[in-house]
Amino acid sequence: MVDDEEDEMQSEQLPDKVKEMIARSGKNPITLFSELFTKVYKSVPDFAFRKVAGRRKDKPIQLYSCTIEMGEKTIEGKKRSTKKGAKTSCALFGLPVLCDAYGDEALSKSTAIEEPKNFQERLKKETYNLFLKLGTTNPLIYATENVISAFFLEDKSTGNVKLLSLATGTKAINGESLSLTGEAVTDCHAEILARRGLIRVFYNEIQKLSEGEESIFFMTKSGKLALKPDLSVHLFISSPPCGSARISFKPPKQPANGDAKKNEDAEMTEVRTEISAAGNDEKKAASLPENPTDMKLRYKTFDGIMGGERLLTMSCSDKLTKWNLLGLQGALLSHLIEPVYMSSLVIGSRANTDHIRKVLFDRIAGFQATVPFSLHLVPIHFIEHTQDVSKANKYSAISMNWNATDDTVELIKTSSGTLPMEAGQSDISEVVPRLAKVKFVQLFKEAATKLKRPCDVTSGSEYTAFKNLAKDYCANRDEFKKWVFKNKLGIWHQKPEDSKRFLVR
Ligand SMILES: [Zn+2]
Repeated sequence: MVDDEEDEMQSEQLPDKVKEMIARSGKNPITLFSELFTKVYKSVPDFAFRKVAGRRKDKPIQLYSCTIEMGEKTIEGKKRSTKKGAKTSCALFGLPVLCDAYGDEALSKSTAIEEPKNFQERLKKETYNLFLKLGTTNPLIYATENVISAFFLEDKSTGNVKLLSLATGTKAINGESLSLTGEAVTDCHAEILARRGLIRVFYNEIQKLSEGEESIFFMTKSGKLALKPDLSVHLFISSPPCGSARISFKPPKQPANGDAKKNEDAEMTEVRTEISAAGNDEKKAASLPENPTDMKLRYKTFDGIMGGERLLTMSCSDKLTKWNLLGLQGALLSHLIEPVYMSSLVIGSRANTDHIRKVLFDRIAGFQATVPFSLHLVPIHFIEHTQDVSKANKYSAISMNWNATDDTVELIKTSSGTLPMEAGQSDISEVVPRLAKVKFVQLFKEAATKLKRPCDVTSGSEYTAFKNLAKDYCANRDEFKKWVFKNKLGIWHQKPEDSKRFLVR
């Protein structure tokens, strides 16, 4: 064990009936516990916290303990490094006590989830059902719930909907953890990890096709693969993406007109960087403090970042905008497949539709992409969502991702962008996440070979050389970033070039 996050990876022993109840309810353990507690004791639960000193690896650390009075009993959860973690653990220990006090049958009736009314609710339900089911095998997963995101595949010919990739997370790595070897995941926000998971599914589907199995892709005349016409991809996010889409300005007392209105619009739609540090100010959490007039300033160097300059990662609002323009498949895969766009976006909270539409499409409507790329104006749906999201846990130190390829979960430490080190491990190569660049470029090489798709780069080349194979994609991407700057939407910051120049074996 290296630090407190990793100690949390141990799971509580939950009785099967509690696991089932959580999965069936469609609620996280804290919400479920609180609702049932109120039914049984006719009062809201009063969780008590205390700080306790812990030791790990001979170093003192601070942990939280959470207790709840239940009749004659005091229930205490496991000690955890965050309040939400401690509260979740306490709720999990309290649930069997509630079952005994109230009777299993009555409880199971009261936790039955409503049937979804429409397609969008179905996506939300399936997202949470899977998330809650995964949490029963490792309750730490519940503590990563702050933003949840999932990609779905819909088959219009059969009406089937399949979850492909699911992730949670709200953090990007620290500058000093930036990898020069492509072995760390830089951005661990839920939508970003969910998309990387989707790409992993795409590689698996390419492999299936190349082996003559049923696949979501078919071979086109151009020699690239494309998504079958009956299939479409949908994205669910529990809250609006960070960045400009999440900014809500109070309406001015006097309606703004002329220049004032123009400035306000510009501020609300400019591209922004994520902040990884804790802080709950929504506007600050999406802000872009630098405003250099020279676009070259966006090229930070690895040495600069190591010397303490801030590592800038574009916000999810900006990345979603880019996906609507260039597709979800990214540069590498563009060499093998036609662009794949999302067909709808479902946001699990109330938000200003017009504003989000402006951010995701309207602000870049003036950019002319070249074939096969074009701006896709997809429907955005908002649905009410009642999950318990603790403000105190807004920045979870762990992101989780689940992938349909092998039906497994991976937990990523957001401070390092790697998997947690287990006892006996000392080398970064042992903790490379499956969603890291270095893993993807290997999948790309295998896929290109299987499809007999010519690549004029060989092993031993730099990672960027593989990305640059997709000439159309790279040309459109570069033009787009220049266009953003020219049209006063701000600066599209890039990761230091040296972080993309590792040699591919
Ligand atoms: Zn984000």
